[in-house]
Amino acid sequence: MTRHYNFCAGPAALPTAVLERAQREMLDYQGRGLSVMEMSHRSDEFVAIAEKAEADLRALMSIPDNYRVLFLQGGASLQFAMLPMNLLGKGGRANFIQTGIWGNKALAEARELGFDCHVAGESETNGHTEVPTLESLQVSDDAAYLHYTANETIGGLEFDYVPALTRAGGEAIPLVCDMSSSILSGPTDVSNFGIIYAGAQKNIGPAGLTLVIVRDDLLGRTVPATPSLFDYQKLAEAGSMVNTPPTYAWYLSGLVFEWLQNDVGGLAAMDALNQRKAEKLYRAIDESSFYSNPIAKRNRSRMNVPFVLADSALDKAFLREADAAGLLNLKGHRSVGGMRASLYNAVPEAAVDALIAFMHDFEQRKG
Ligand SMILES: *Cc1c(COP(=O)(O)O)cnc(C)c1O
Repeated sequence: MTRHYNFCAGPAALPTAVLERAQREMLDYQGRGLSVMEMSHRSDEFVAIAEKAEADLRALMSIPDNYRVLFLQGGASLQFAMLPMNLLGKGGRANFIQTGIWGNKALAEARELGFDCHVAGESETNGHTEVPTLESLQVSDDAAYLHYTANETIGGLEFDYVPALTRAGGEAIPLVCDMSSSILSGPTDVSNFGIIYAGAQKNIGPAGLTLVIVRDDLLGRTVPATPSLFDYQKLAEAGSMVNTPPTYAWYLSGLVFEWLQNDVGGLAAMDALNQRKAEKLYRAIDESSFYSNPIAKRNRSRMNVPFVLADSALDKAFLREADAAGLLNLKGHRSVGGMRASLYNAVPEAAVDALIAFMHDFEQRKG
C-alpha cells in the first residue's frame, strides 16, 4: 500500500495514524463486537465517544465553560443561513467583512433570507489580495454581530488579526468567524469570539460534520419560525442529538483531536509546524521567476497556497506530472485557475519538501 501526498482543499488529507486506528477499530470497537457506525447514538458506548471528543476539543482549544460545542450536519454552508436566523431575533443588523468567495456566499445567503445586512469592510477593490485593516472597518451602530472568514480557502487570503470591535457605547460586538479552513491550525483565543464554526472536512475530520462553538448568551435569539434543527439553543440542550448526529464523523474527529494532543503535542506545536511548512513553500515560490502568488505577505494563507505558472499553457503538464509523482490534487479552484496546495494539519512537512523538489525540477525542465 502507498499513501500519496494529498494537497486537496477539502475533503482533505487525514492523519495516517488516525486512519490506521479507525481501521483497527472498524469491525469490533474495543471488544464490543460491533462498529461505531452500527451503534445507537444513545448507547453508552457512543455517548462516551461523543463526550470524550468534546472534552478533548475543549482541552485542545482551551474553550471556556460559557461556550457550548455543537456537532452538527449541513456543512459550513448551512451556517450561512443558521447564523442570521439564530442571532437576529432581537433586532440589529448582520455585519460582514468580505474577503473572498466564502464570505460572499455567507452574505448572499443572509440577504436571500430577507435579512438586511451591512458590509463593514471588503477586499474586493484590491482583488482579494489584502485584508482590510482594523482601522478601516466601519460597523453599523445597530450591528447584532460581525461575520468574517478567517481564512479564504479559495483565494488563499488569511486575516493576520482578530477584528474584535466595540459599539459606540463600548460594548463588544459578537464576532462570528467561519474558521472552516484554519481551525486547529494553531492556538485560538476563543474568548474573542461569539461563535466559531467550521465544516470538518478541512482540518477536523471527514465530511458530514460541522462544528459550532457558541457563547451561552447568544442562545435563544432566534427569529420566529426557526426550525428545531436550526436552533442552537435546542441543539445545545439536546447535546447535538435533536436527531441522529453524524456519529462516525464525530468519532473520527475525536481521533483527530487525540492525535493533535498526543502525537503532535498540541496546537502550539501544530502552529510551529504549519508555519515552517508554509514559509518553505512561499519562499520557493518567491525565489523563482516561474511561479508566483499575488497575496500581500501579511495575509498569505498558511493552509491554502495558490500559485500560478508563468506560462499557463504548462498547467496541464504540471498537474499530470505531479500526479504521476504522487503529489495529488494541486489544481486550483475553477474560479482562480492555476494551482493550489492545501497544507492542512495532516499534510506532513515531507509532502511540502517533495512538492518543492518537484516544482524546482519542473521549472528546470520547462521554465
Ligand atoms: C469549505 C468551506 C466552506 C463550505 O463548507 P461546506 O462544509 O462544504 O458547506 C465554507 N467556508 C469556508 C472558509 C470553507 O473553506
